[in-house]
Amino acid sequence: MMDYDVIVVGAGPGGSIAAKTCAEKGLDVLLIEKRQEIGVPVRCAEGVGREDFEEFVKPDERWIASEIENAELCSPSEYKIKLSADMAGNEVGYVLERKIFDRYLAKLASRAGADVLTKTSAVSMKRENGSVKLGIRSMGEFQETSARIVIGADGVESRVAKWAGIDTTLKLNEIESCVQYLMTDINFEPTTTYFWVGRKYAPGGYIWLFPKGEDAANVGIGVMPSMAEKPAKQYLDEFIKEHFPEGEIVEVVVGGVPVKGAIETAVADNVMLVGDAARHTDPITGGGIINAMRAGYHAGITASEAVEAGNYSARFLRKYDERWMNDFGKTLVRNRKLQEKMLKLDDSTFDKLFRGIGSMRIEDMSVKRLALELFKREPKLLWDLREFLV
Ligand SMILES: Cc1cc2nc3c(=O)[nH]c(=O)nc-3n(C[C@H](O)[C@H](O)[C@H](O)COP(=O)(O)OP(=O)(O)OC[C@H]3O[C@@H](n4cnc5c(N)ncnc54)[C@H](O)[C@@H]3O)c2cc1C
Repeated sequence: MMDYDVIVVGAGPGGSIAAKTCAEKGLDVLLIEKRQEIGVPVRCAEGVGREDFEEFVKPDERWIASEIENAELCSPSEYKIKLSADMAGNEVGYVLERKIFDRYLAKLASRAGADVLTKTSAVSMKRENGSVKLGIRSMGEFQETSARIVIGADGVESRVAKWAGIDTTLKLNEIESCVQYLMTDINFEPTTTYFWVGRKYAPGGYIWLFPKGEDAANVGIGVMPSMAEKPAKQYLDEFIKEHFPEGEIVEVVVGGVPVKGAIETAVADNVMLVGDAARHTDPITGGGIINAMRAGYHAGITASEAVEAGNYSARFLRKYDERWMNDFGKTLVRNRKLQEKMLKLDDSTFDKLFRGIGSMRIEDMSVKRLALELFKREPKLLWDLREFLV
């Protein structure tokens, strides 16, 4: 039977960084991925903020599809705001080529010393004598493995979370239903990301266009099922018919993005969850790549401490909860609250806000200054959002 200190389930960004960190700390680690090829099919718009991203990896032209300098936001009546990189902060940065990027991260884990197995699924899990027996199906054959710790980085449909008994259930207003097309033959600026907001376009979410090079872009939508009157795809198709009637669709992606905010705990005895499995995506943007990587790092560090202490109890692993909560968890809590308020805004309110901003010279303003200016003009409108703006 294969025996490891740590088995990481899922080779997305969260799992690969977790496995790499464990291996760098000298642990015996196995990273398993159910798909034949790491990184495909891509279920992502592939956008990341520059600063956060560069904390983890040095950008490499092999897996950067586009460098972004501006973000353009559009209201239901087509009032537009263009934000420069300075203003938009982490909303602009890079559009990745995740097919290559995810594989690159898994390679880093392997180079650090992790064993990596593809076409290998975790199919069962039970605890026995203080460790975990993980049933895996590798290349069609069932095998039992054991580990002191299992890191569940198995994405939004995590089975590890269920096996471990960690509550990650999502209500209808805690998940965005997403559809995305990779499109060609459409017009856009290759250094700009575009966002369309308001119920008309995407109830409870938004439509995005993220350039992939000069002549292709990810055009997608996320809607909240509890607010939508029709399927996400129908909203997107109607939008495309109006805005990009000449466009060609060359790839389709469907997926769910948790927008629950922070869960109470991402640990159980012998188990830690990272990334989408732990609902680590941002409730406002739906972005989860960076948080998954951050969580993977924290889980790796905590695993190495647990192995050193010989303590794999939930109580010990709560250190991991503290780490991700102190890092990005507070932002998840805050942005969930902000999202709940934003969901109440109707389309005319969005238009009013955008019209207000559109008439200002915002190029030289900080976000704080912009918020203050808006307050002066629209005090009633912004009173409800005050705690988030200053
Ligand atoms: C349409 C869409 C657009 C998005 N756009 C963005 C964006 O622009 N920017 C951004 O930051 N985030 C975006 N996200 C979110 C982002 O894709 C995720 O947050 C991110 O991929 C999470 O990484 P992860 O490592 O937690 O999980 P994943 O990347 O989902 O990886 C989980 C891995 O686990 C594997 N797995 C599952 N079960 C098992 C098993 N039993 N055994 C072995 N392996 C298993 C899966 O095959 C998968 O490879 C988007 C999501 C969607 C759906």
